[in-house]
Amino acid sequence: MARPGVILPILQNWSCHNCGGCCREHQIVITAEEKKRIDKQKWKTADGVVDDRPLIVAHGDRFRLNHQADGACVFLDEKGLCRIHAKFGEAAKPLACRAYPYAVHPSGNSVTVSLRFSCPSVVQNLGEPVAQQRKNLEALAQEIVPSNYTAPKAPPFGSGQQPLTWPDVTLLLAFIERGLSAGKASFVTRLLRVLSWLELLEQTPDDALRGDPLGRLLPALHEASVRAFPDDTAPLLKPTSIARTMFRQFVAQLLRHDTELTARGGLMERLRLLSDGVRFTLGRGRVPEMADPISVRVAFSRGIAESMDASTGSNQMPTFSQLEGEFGGRNPEFDELFVRYFRVKLQGLHFCGAAFYEMSFIDGFRSLALMYPATLWVAHMRATRDGRSTVALPDVQAALATVDHNFGYSPALATAGSKKRIRQLAKMQQITALCSWYSR
Ligand code: SF4
Repeated sequence: MARPGVILPILQNWSCHNCGGCCREHQIVITAEEKKRIDKQKWKTADGVVDDRPLIVAHGDRFRLNHQADGACVFLDEKGLCRIHAKFGEAAKPLACRAYPYAVHPSGNSVTVSLRFSCPSVVQNLGEPVAQQRKNLEALAQEIVPSNYTAPKAPPFGSGQQPLTWPDVTLLLAFIERGLSAGKASFVTRLLRVLSWLELLEQTPDDALRGDPLGRLLPALHEASVRAFPDDTAPLLKPTSIARTMFRQFVAQLLRHDTELTARGGLMERLRLLSDGVRFTLGRGRVPEMADPISVRVAFSRGIAESMDASTGSNQMPTFSQLEGEFGGRNPEFDELFVRYFRVKLQGLHFCGAAFYEMSFIDGFRSLALMYPATLWVAHMRATRDGRSTVALPDVQAALATVDHNFGYSPALATAGSKKRIRQLAKMQQITALCSWYSR
């Protein structure tokens, strides 16, 4: 069978800037073959690796690289560089290390490439254009997608399991992308339009969801959504109290910061997580203290400090009610970041189907849409915590790097309860309200 074509995101740059975050906080799971390869590299204490623990440990039916006392990978050196890379070259590293921050997913007869915005270089769009890295990414995709690859089925449109074909998915994606990217209205208005026409589409009979009928329907639905949300002067939608509670639970799951060190925390750590979950659900008092991921600390603390206005630098967590106030989230710089984020996730199919907890197309898109208010909420929290009255672009970038770490990867978001929450919010027509309210 011919190798599938590889679809790369446009509008995105990336090169590694050695923040070391991924080598300090991710668990690197490896295959038996990779273990054998690393064993053959014959690492000794003289090479600088730790000698008080095994370098590789069992992980279910596979293995994982062990961590040093401070949580960093056993192969990370004092300068924040990989010893395997330094001694044997990049190709000698485990596949998981070489793939990050890329995410490769089969889709029909193609393979799509997305990126994880948990990497600060991705979120800041730093480095070489991804489109110019085709050769390397094709080689990586060949390693990730097995040679006996069979094209997976397209995700269903909704939870009613209305089937979609891959060409219909492509058509829908192109229409969503166009709707989010074009026009004078702010990003949130464009997002509300897309959410509203997708909702209308959900109510149409299954046979309108494919081929020519779908192609004819989409422009009419888009027109109707523009009439519903003509411009940025459309009245703000206020979410209900129950919707805000469910939203905070979603944010709490995105802010979970599970690392090797927290895994070692045992019962105390589990109790802390439980207590944080209760506080986010109640939404009273102060937001619980949460440490920023290392990559966010390394990449953003300076940028944010530089952008501070008359800062009090209080570093006190804000109250939940403070974060219900207006803060000016509709900003062209933030919008540009969100357009890029959404386009990368859409082009890489990094929001539905096998790449996203087997969620349907529309529920996956609704989850992605909620990343917009969630990111702005966290950005607002960061700025207020640091004693600033305005939110700057580095706050939004740092917030997106923090929450995208879990999006599509945290098992907490894969539970039946989490999936049901997305459907309930949609049923109560609260996803649009949440996007509108937390953008103001
Ligand atoms: S093996 Fe190297 S690249 Fe992979 S996590 Fe460890 S230090 Fe980082």
